[in-house]
Amino acid sequence: MAWIDGDYCPIEEAKISVLDWGLLRSDATYDVVHVWKNRFFQLDRHIERFTSSIEKLRLKLPVTEQELKVILAQCVDKSGLNDAYVEMILTRGTSPVPSRDPRDAVNNLICFAIPFGWIANEEQRQRGLHVSISDIQRIAPESVDPTIKNYHWLDFVQALLRGYDDGYENVIMVDGRGNITEGPGFNVFIVEGGAVSTPSSGVLEGITRQTVIDLCIETGTPVEVMPVASNRVRTADEVFISSTAGGIMPVTRVDGGEIAGANPGPVTRRLHEAYWNRHEDPAWSVAVSELLRAGPDPDAATGSRDESR
Ligand code: PLP
Repeated sequence: MAWIDGDYCPIEEAKISVLDWGLLRSDATYDVVHVWKNRFFQLDRHIERFTSSIEKLRLKLPVTEQELKVILAQCVDKSGLNDAYVEMILTRGTSPVPSRDPRDAVNNLICFAIPFGWIANEEQRQRGLHVSISDIQRIAPESVDPTIKNYHWLDFVQALLRGYDDGYENVIMVDGRGNITEGPGFNVFIVEGGAVSTPSSGVLEGITRQTVIDLCIETGTPVEVMPVASNRVRTADEVFISSTAGGIMPVTRVDGGEIAGANPGPVTRRLHEAYWNRHEDPAWSVAVSELLRAGPDPDAATGSRDESR
């Protein structure tokens, strides 16, 4: 189910103009949150990152944050999905033809809910992904700020296609200094001697990445955000990736070499379990039905709630 041009419609009917800057120039930002067992996970953090990306791109959200939450909840509710991949997109929109001035465009908000999708399939999640470290560099952060969630994916897609040709299931990108960055839709972590590290720059600051950091701090697991040289990934005790599209997923082969004896390691397994356990915790998640009851005006949530609905 989608919300576009101010209305809900089946996803296959949701269409944008071919003149939208989002299509013609990848001039857009987006965010993806998931719903698991009818609860949004870390919704406020996703909305916060979305509005921060919007500001950095000098776009304007045409609805309030509370209205946005209700639109997302309606998309999920109307789709009938219990587990969903929920995307919000703000494109630059269209300008009067033939203007090439982005300031003339009217920004375009699109939201949708589709079935939950995983970066790694079930077999890969059980035994760990087999990845390569691509020699294609991620777009430099000096060119496109990776903390703005964006559709500049040509480097990812070319690296992925090359990785598939070589028999790998996914790829990790590097920067110009021999450090790893991230992969198509995920952040990367390594574990060395019980300590967890993840790259400090050239990456989207993933909500799942932050959740992993929070869980490490809570459980007394040493965690560092620092440059991570490619070689450290090949020799690490454990490697895992993190994403809204699948949570914490083990990597057990890098460039053909085995990691953790080719089995998901203990730190990865512990974090994976803690991550999924948090999905029912009200401090980390909110029910779709609760957002619908609250409505676009948050005050409507207090006092007069009809709990029987
Ligand atoms: N890096 C990139 C480039 C992504 O597109 C994503 C998610 O789609 C991530 C990292 C992981 O971010 P999150 O944990 O917020 O899903």
